[in-house]
Amino acid sequence: MVVTRFPPSPTGHLHLGGARTALFNWLFARHNKGKFILRFEDTDKERSKKEYVDSIIEALKWLGLDWDEGPYFQSERLEIYNSYAKKLFEEGKAYYCECCKEVLEKKKKEMLEKGLKPKYDGTCRNKNLGPGEGRALRIKVPEIKEIVFEDLLRGKIVFPAEEIDDFIIVRSDGTPTYHFAVVIDDITMGITHVIRGDDHISNTPKQLLIYEALGAYPPEFAHIPMVLGPDGARLSKRHGAKSISEYREAGFLPKALINYLARLGWGYGDQEYFTVEELIEKFDLRDVNLSPARFDQDKLLAINAYWIRNSDNKYLLENLKSFFKAYDLRNFSEEYLLSAIETVKTRSKTLLEMAEMMEFYLVEEVKYDLDSAKKFLVPEIKPLLQKIIEDLKDLPFDEKKLEEYFRNLAEKSGIKLKNIAQAVRIALTGKMVSPGLFEIMKVLGKERVKKRLEKALKFIES
Ligand code: GLU
Repeated sequence: MVVTRFPPSPTGHLHLGGARTALFNWLFARHNKGKFILRFEDTDKERSKKEYVDSIIEALKWLGLDWDEGPYFQSERLEIYNSYAKKLFEEGKAYYCECCKEVLEKKKKEMLEKGLKPKYDGTCRNKNLGPGEGRALRIKVPEIKEIVFEDLLRGKIVFPAEEIDDFIIVRSDGTPTYHFAVVIDDITMGITHVIRGDDHISNTPKQLLIYEALGAYPPEFAHIPMVLGPDGARLSKRHGAKSISEYREAGFLPKALINYLARLGWGYGDQEYFTVEELIEKFDLRDVNLSPARFDQDKLLAINAYWIRNSDNKYLLENLKSFFKAYDLRNFSEEYLLSAIETVKTRSKTLLEMAEMMEFYLVEEVKYDLDSAKKFLVPEIKPLLQKIIEDLKDLPFDEKKLEEYFRNLAEKSGIKLKNIAQAVRIALTGKMVSPGLFEIMKVLGKERVKKRLEKALKFIES
């Protein structure tokens, strides 16, 4: 069975790059009917924060990336790491080192000055030291020429072993280093596929040496290209990229983000839009692109607009609720809200825009954009508004019939249809720009239309 994992360090919020890594692991697991595990790599006590754990969990949940096991926390697994460390020590595959920081620093400096790559010189390798205060545990790297592995995306990768020294696996304070904890976790959690950013490629040989020392089979590795900004540098805030929760607040749909993230470095023919179900069905690591993906804000917006246009109104309503906190939605029937959504969904790129555009449906009294109101709510329009109010009772609230009615009104009164429509539009919405007037009237219903026209009359009078 395929088992993948997403192991964020809780030192910040979930960003696009991390979310894409999580998504690829999740899709690969779901496609193969395997398991997806969440684990927090929180051994860096200074930088790891509970608030980031919570926000990463919330972001994953919102995206719909559910996990089958976890969340595990490395900070709660120290005993496990220690038992493996003990085993390596007892088998002579790791040794204690008493070299102090100052000496190591000095040697490092000397090597750098000589133009050499700094490496531990093996001072303690054959001292047969046992555990003790201030002693770190180092792995005894075997005498080999190279370390080779098959990356699922890149094929054979060869590292000269001479670049690797006897690196530390347990620090002198007893905490495991990243390489050691990751490998022990991946072994004990039965991870079969490690899909991660290619910034981790150079970590892989060290991790493979730990597998080797433990006599364990390594998982398959797939190192995916980083996400870059439009300028080719690694994607960051500077490029306008936000955290997942910020995208949520800016009015992006989770399924639009998923669609966009999947397309960041993965493709299926030239298909642009995918539902989550389609992604699960079609996701294959072989279709991951080896050249780095570039973040494109406009494309993200276009995908969001597409999913707003093409989503069920109920789904949109669910996702819009957090944007309607200022209103008591219980005052409106679901039917009313759904038909209001229908009138704005083709005009909005984000839920935020959509919510703003829907404001006039939810307020008791609309606020006028004053300049427009003064321009269109003028004395000569007053008799027409009065006539509309009178006729309302018998007026069929059907888009075609309403159009006919307004045309007639324009002909008979000699006032331009455009001016009548703008006046009514401002009366109903407060603004010059809105969804189609007749659509709006239909949704608002006669009661609300009447009240708003009466208010417009008062405005004219005043
Ligand atoms: N905690 C590491 C990171 O956030 C993950 C390393 C891995 O996938 O092995 O980059």
